[in-house]
Amino acid sequence: MTDTTAHTEPVPTPEPPVPQPDDVTTAWWDATREHRLTVQQCSACQAVQHPPRAVCVACSTLEGLTQVDVSGRGEVDSFTVVHRAPRADVATPYTIARVRLAEGPILLTRIHPHQTVSIGDAVEVTWWDLTDGRALPVFRPTTSSTTT
Ligand SMILES: [Zn+2]
Repeated sequence: MTDTTAHTEPVPTPEPPVPQPDDVTTAWWDATREHRLTVQQCSACQAVQHPPRAVCVACSTLEGLTQVDVSGRGEVDSFTVVHRAPRADVATPYTIARVRLAEGPILLTRIHPHQTVSIGDAVEVTWWDLTDGRALPVFRPTTSSTTT
């Protein structure tokens, strides 16, 4: 049985530990404040990459790397269900997934609570709002197969 409601739940309490933005990741984090999922694009070779880096992994340029919006849709590339959390105050089970975005890059992310996925499932982004104004992208299945 799966939860087919489409509402967004608040971020779990306590909030997961989230790194502070740095010179390379500030633009990515700023976009999350507007619930925009972005990847980094190179203006020299047009390659896209994630996570944000100081260098283009395709052509090695150090300049012209900008964040561009993506569709927020992708496919589960791999996943694991965590039953023993790294901290005692983190509720289990939860699902960590590698999502291959429609635009190509892979995002390591969480699957929305109460949703189950399989490899190859189509997923879409939703957001957990953090208290500091940033947000974390989490993914949920785009279509729920009918389970009766
Ligand atoms: Zn490049």
